[in-house]
Amino acid sequence: MKYISTRGNTAPMQFSDVLLMGLAPDGGLMLPEYYPQIDNETLNKWRKLDYADLAFEIMSLFATDIPADDLRLIINKTYTKQAFGSDEITPVSPLCDNLSLLELSNGPTLAFKDVAMQFLGNAFEYVLDKKNERLTIIGATSGDTGSAAEYALRGKKNISVFMMSPHGKMSEFQRAQMYSLDDANIHNIAVEGMFDDCQDIVKSLQEDAEFKKKYSLGTVNSINWGRILAQIVYYFKGYFAATTNNEQKLSFCVPSGNFGNVCAGLFAKQMGLPIDRLIVATNENDVLHEFFSTGKYTPRQSSETYVTSSPSMDISKASNFERFVYLLLDKDSAYLAQLFNDVKLGKGFDLSDKLSEVSQKFGFVSGKSTHQDRLDTIKKIYTKTQRLIDPHTADGVKVALQLQREDEHILVAETALPAKFEDTIVEALGKIDLPRPEHTIGLEDKPQYVTVVPNDAEAVAQIIKQHITAY
Ligand SMILES: *Cc1c(COP(=O)(O)O)cnc(C)c1O
Repeated sequence: MKYISTRGNTAPMQFSDVLLMGLAPDGGLMLPEYYPQIDNETLNKWRKLDYADLAFEIMSLFATDIPADDLRLIINKTYTKQAFGSDEITPVSPLCDNLSLLELSNGPTLAFKDVAMQFLGNAFEYVLDKKNERLTIIGATSGDTGSAAEYALRGKKNISVFMMSPHGKMSEFQRAQMYSLDDANIHNIAVEGMFDDCQDIVKSLQEDAEFKKKYSLGTVNSINWGRILAQIVYYFKGYFAATTNNEQKLSFCVPSGNFGNVCAGLFAKQMGLPIDRLIVATNENDVLHEFFSTGKYTPRQSSETYVTSSPSMDISKASNFERFVYLLLDKDSAYLAQLFNDVKLGKGFDLSDKLSEVSQKFGFVSGKSTHQDRLDTIKKIYTKTQRLIDPHTADGVKVALQLQREDEHILVAETALPAKFEDTIVEALGKIDLPRPEHTIGLEDKPQYVTVVPNDAEAVAQIIKQHITAY
C-alpha cells in the first residue's frame, strides 16, 4: 500500500514515512491510494474477533511495510484491558429505543483520542527505533489532545514532548491530568496567553527550518494518518457489536470538530462496512453543519470561533475535511488545490451542485447543538436512563434524536466521560457525584510539574534547547 497527497504533487510513500508526517510537502493530506474492499465472507470472519485481532486485520491492509509480527506486537501492547478498562476496548451500550453509545472514552485520559493516540505512541517508538531517529513533539492544547498525547508518549524511547497550554485556562481536572505526569520526557509549558497564542508559538517554531531540523520537531495533530487508521477499527467493532448479521444497516452519529473521527467512519464505509448514514454533529461552531446542509464551506477566523461548553469541538476550520473533499471531487487534485488555496486566502467554496452525492453516495447528513440543547439532553438522558453523558456526547445524542428515521439504529460516539466536564454536568443536573475511573481518583492532589512562560516563542525555544541536545 502506498500513500498519496490530496494535492497530487507528492511522490507516493510508505506507511512508516507517512506515520511521522504532518502535512504533505505539497500542502495536502496523505491518503492511501485505494481502500481495500472487505467482502461478506471476511466480515463474517472479523465479526468473531476480539479488538486486537480485528485491529491487526484492518491495519495490516494499510501498514504493509511493517512486518506482521511487529505490527501484532504494537497492537497487542496498545489495546489492553488495563489501558481501556474492558476486553471490548470500545463497548457498545444501549441508551434508549434504537440508540446506543459506542464508548470510545475508557482510555487513560477519558476521551476518544486515546484510542488512536495510544497506538501512535507505540508505533512511533517502533518506527523511530528502526530508522534510528529521534523526535521532539511540540503541541498546543486546550485540554484533550495534549493530555492524550502525553499519556501516549510518556516514557517512550527517542521521543520528547513539549506541550503548551494556556496558563490558568484549563479545568482543574485537565491541569491535574497533564501536569501531574513526572516522566522525564514530558514537559508541560503554561503560556501566559490564550490557546491561539500557544498555537502561534508552535507554528513559529515549526517555521524556523533550521531549528526544526536541528531538534527534529514533529507534531501529533489530528491530520496524522496513523490516528485516522486506528479509528477505522472501532467502526467495524461497533458495527459487529450492534448487529447480528451483515444484512443489517447501522448509522453512526459523531460529535465533530476537526472531522478526524467521522472521517475514519467514511473510510470504513468506503471499505464496504454496511454503514447507512454518517451523522455529523457540531456545536455552535457549525462550519461543518453549514457545509452538509448547504454545500458551502466557509471557514471562520479564530476570532469568530465561539468558546462553548463542548470545547473540544470549538474549531474554525475542520483540518481533515480535505480528505473527504478529495473523494467527493473524484480525486481531482488540481481542482481541490484550487479550492483549498481559496480557503487559505480566507475565502470559502461552494459545492452545492454535489450535495445530493454527499448524502446519497457518502451517507453524510448533519445537525447542530447549542449550550441549551446540551444541558437539556444531559438532563433528559439522565432522567430517562440514569446514565450521565458528557457535553460532547450530548451534542451527538441531541442531533441523533433529531434526525433519526423510523427503524434507524444509531450508534452515537461517546467521545469523553462526564468526569472531565463537571461544571456543565452540574449546570444541567445540580450538584451530583460524578463517577470517576479509579485511576483518576485523587489526581488533583498529586504534585504538578509545569513551567510558566511569557507569551513568547523564544522563551519556549529556550526550554527545548535546555532539555534536548541537538540531534
Ligand atoms: C477531539 C474531540 C472531538 C472532535 O473530534 P474530531 O476528530 O476533531 O472531529 C469531539 N469530542 C471530544 C471529547 C474530543 O476530544
